Amino acid sequence: MTNFSDLLLDVARVRKDFPILEREVHGKPLVYFDNAATCQTPQSVIDAFDHYYRRMNANIHRGLHSLADEATAAFENARETVRAFINAAESREVIFTRGTTEALNLVAQSWGRANLGAGDEVLVSQMEHHSNIVPWQLLAQERGFTIKVIPVDERGVLDLHAYHDLLNERTRLVAVNHVSNALGTINPVKEMTATAHEHGALVLIDGAQAAPHIAIDVQDIGADFYALSAHKVYGPTGAGALYGRAELLEAMPPWQGGGEMIATVSFDVPTTFADIPHKFEAGTPAIAEVVAFGRAIEWVNSIGLEHIAAWENRLLKHASEAVSGIDGLRIIGTAPEKAAVLSFVVDGAHSQDIGLLIDQFGVAIRTGHHCAQPLLSRLGVDATCRASFAAYNTPEEVDVFVDGLQHVINMLR
Ligand code: PLP
Repeated sequence: MTNFSDLLLDVARVRKDFPILEREVHGKPLVYFDNAATCQTPQSVIDAFDHYYRRMNANIHRGLHSLADEATAAFENARETVRAFINAAESREVIFTRGTTEALNLVAQSWGRANLGAGDEVLVSQMEHHSNIVPWQLLAQERGFTIKVIPVDERGVLDLHAYHDLLNERTRLVAVNHVSNALGTINPVKEMTATAHEHGALVLIDGAQAAPHIAIDVQDIGADFYALSAHKVYGPTGAGALYGRAELLEAMPPWQGGGEMIATVSFDVPTTFADIPHKFEAGTPAIAEVVAFGRAIEWVNSIGLEHIAAWENRLLKHASEAVSGIDGLRIIGTAPEKAAVLSFVVDGAHSQDIGLLIDQFGVAIRTGHHCAQPLLSRLGVDATCRASFAAYNTPEEVDVFVDGLQHVINMLR
């Protein structure tokens, strides 16, 4: 039995912050293990939303009245909170987006369209989420560059020898995730970035799954671009951020046109654009969501990311040991460095059926390809069951999950 008593996370206190954890599903207490897809929001984040719409709803940046001022200040405070969270040098290096997907598409459509052409190469890892593959495929069709794939071994670990061999003077960009959503593998992004830079390539890191589990320091990593989503870090859906080094962002063209992103607009002389970050924030953003994103990061800071990570690692260890006793169950993804994700398949039981039936026990897990089809096909499976943990999960919930799983497997066999 894994020991949790030495850890500095008061899970009972943490759970009180999450009203949704009081609900039942099929008459059973909710056990929410689908955190890698979307994690739950604490009351303070819900309150931030409520407060925004009750007290300060107004469009930002343009207005001179008090509400517009207050909404602008709340929005820009959130930018500063995100900056500190990822240790960017300046808050103008933080662009708000609808999420990681939009952040990655921004890099492809702005930097990529302006800088990539025939003869160039983009390295994408085999363990990417589709949102860090498809934008590059769409652009490659148009611009004629080549996509090369950094392979993954049978444990779900990137093959760094192959990575070194793939890098050359034609490599313009390396696009890699910090943590795999399907397996939980933590990638050595700092080392990979240093190597890419030696070859003159830029590095775009998809940090969607790292942000809730690992202290991010974009300057220490040396990242050129880093993307994250609010809803993976206890925040709302519809908001996220792209970090980009200021000099890169300044040199990049806008990717969407509209209000907010211009300096002057004319039919007679060329339209000019706002400074960063506004050049990349056309139109009215998701103001309440961004404000609540900031509040979510404050919640994480109040608990301490290092305490959350230690707790989740212990949950992962406990769960991995417990399921290893189940006959015919195989863990997919056995990297030595893993974050809060347990992916598995079971002989004689389809993942989809397991996911559907275990819901009857109140347990929410995810099944399918996890938007990582190339990775799953490399590992010889077309779907897995994925349990993923957050700060509010408990060892007792892991036990409910493992019992439920055993029942479900007995039913299916
Ligand atoms: N990248 C990774 C590693 C993810 O896990 C996800 C979401 O699951 C995304 C990108 C896409 O994030 P979003 O849907 O918030 O844009």
